[in-house]
Amino acid sequence: MKYTAKVKTEDQLSTVLADENSEALMLDYALIKSIPAMDERKGKKIFISMPEVLRELRAESVAGNLRQLFEEKDFPDKGLPVACSNRNLSRPDGVVIKNIDEIGFVKKCGLFENVIGDAFLYAYNCRAVSFYKNEFPGMKFILSDELTDDENAELVKRSGLKPEEFFYKIYGHQVLMVTNQCFQKNYGGCKNDDGIHRVDFFDEKENRFIAVSKCREGACEILSGRPVLMLDKQKEILEKFGKINFLLDFTIESKKETERILSLIQKENPEKMDGISRGHHYRGID
Ligand SMILES: [Zn+2]
Repeated sequence: MKYTAKVKTEDQLSTVLADENSEALMLDYALIKSIPAMDERKGKKIFISMPEVLRELRAESVAGNLRQLFEEKDFPDKGLPVACSNRNLSRPDGVVIKNIDEIGFVKKCGLFENVIGDAFLYAYNCRAVSFYKNEFPGMKFILSDELTDDENAELVKRSGLKPEEFFYKIYGHQVLMVTNQCFQKNYGGCKNDDGIHRVDFFDEKENRFIAVSKCREGACEILSGRPVLMLDKQKEILEKFGKINFLLDFTIESKKETERILSLIQKENPEKMDGISRGHHYRGID
């Protein structure tokens, strides 16, 4: 089975890139300096994810980075500071936007092609989808984690878009919240580096949650403790949605765990994994 994967670490990036079944990779913004060179990609598309939080003071440096990554012709608007276009750098094929403000930002940078809307971006109905489509006609969408499969299938159908314009997350920890607070700061001190730091915590019912802090960027994602896994439902999903893109969302997985998921996805009847969840695919949020 072919798939697209989101990756947050160097290990995840190299593992997915080496796998012959991956078609496209969405790199976390922290991996902006690790975009694979053209000859390493073997035809796989590379997208760079915008930061979770885009603070005003940081916006110019992000714009500068994007300018360096894309060709000059992608930047007809000269309103932003022009960094030299380094043609030796491997340029990504497109970007993943996470917030509504990034629409304006990406547009101002002159990027119109190959834009993907993250699951965290609000797109719960056809009106929202057509709003984004007006901005970026070629935009594709990662389906929301908060809708059931029935609701998402209805959305795909009514939107008038093709199933190929959507991504169905078949594996991954759900992002419950994005905050500027550093959890790491409370447990051992803020690292203030480019790494990804994990803190586990529990609610009163012993449910586990994982805080993933990106100290330098000043953003922290709160993830569900149990990954949502639908690898064994591939046939059912294709029957319901048509030829939709499958997405693996790697966040905290080690190299070994990443390899394990990549091997499971190719099995007709993958063995049961402990501690998984079906998320809201069947039972929605009340
Ligand atoms: Zn920190």
